[in-house]
Amino acid sequence: LEHQLTQSQKMEAIGTLTGGIAHDFNNILTAIIGYTTMMQLELDEEHPLQRKVGEILRASERAASLTRSLLAYSRRQAGNPAPTGLNAIINNVDILLQRLIPENIELRSQLAPEELSIMADSGQIEQVIMNLVVNARDAMPEGGVLSLSTESMALDREFVAKHGYGRPGSYALLAVADSGVGMDEKTRDRIFEPFFTTKAPGKGTGLGLAMVYGIVKQHAGFINCYSEPGHGTVFRIYLPLIDAPAEMEAAQADQELRGGD
Ligand code: ADP
Repeated sequence: LEHQLTQSQKMEAIGTLTGGIAHDFNNILTAIIGYTTMMQLELDEEHPLQRKVGEILRASERAASLTRSLLAYSRRQAGNPAPTGLNAIINNVDILLQRLIPENIELRSQLAPEELSIMADSGQIEQVIMNLVVNARDAMPEGGVLSLSTESMALDREFVAKHGYGRPGSYALLAVADSGVGMDEKTRDRIFEPFFTTKAPGKGTGLGLAMVYGIVKQHAGFINCYSEPGHGTVFRIYLPLIDAPAEMEAAQADQELRGGD
């Protein structure tokens, strides 16, 4: 429990820091890209510097795109939450997912029979799903099974005490599991840090899970990751069911009323 708290505080600090830096960088990059573009236009098309200026422009644009991802991750980029269904969001990205996954990976989906109503920015939740699926795919270069499932889940105090994470309440649970390479403890401890990656340069930015973490936190949810080297990985995302807060508030008000008697 203590570890979870430190992790969350650490992420908050990193989020604030990266958000601020990304914002400043964005302004700096806008100036670099603007002046480089002007230079490119002013130089004769055959000028020997054209190629170098072009390289500066491409590199700056890569940096700008990274900065945008960082800004999206940090809380400055507020989402647009609306009542929506978790199953509907998954069905929405299904075609995209099929396209991401190669032949040697079997995709198994098992969605809850009832729709799971959540208050969410569906674009952000789509991003969470895509990031987890891309990671699962990358963890199975030799192929394997990728399973995606949803269910409703009530967490009580006992569950929270036993597992050492989460808060009591009613949740929509999204699980993404793979039969891939898995992670050792040292890797697992750092996966949510921005820029932490074990992938080859150019293959990973290390922002995927940092973004997932930020989005889930913004939705008042939480994440659990179970992974063993050589045995695959399971990510579980818990998002509050829509009527849960009302129910809980009512119960709380009820208790306060009775306490006041
Ligand atoms: P990136 O995918 O760009 O590396 P992420 O933040 O999404 O960035 O992931 C960080 C690291 O976490 C990955 O480089 C990898 O080491 C580890 N990781 C994430 N998901 C999985 C998974 N399903 N199986 C094994 N390792 C994973």
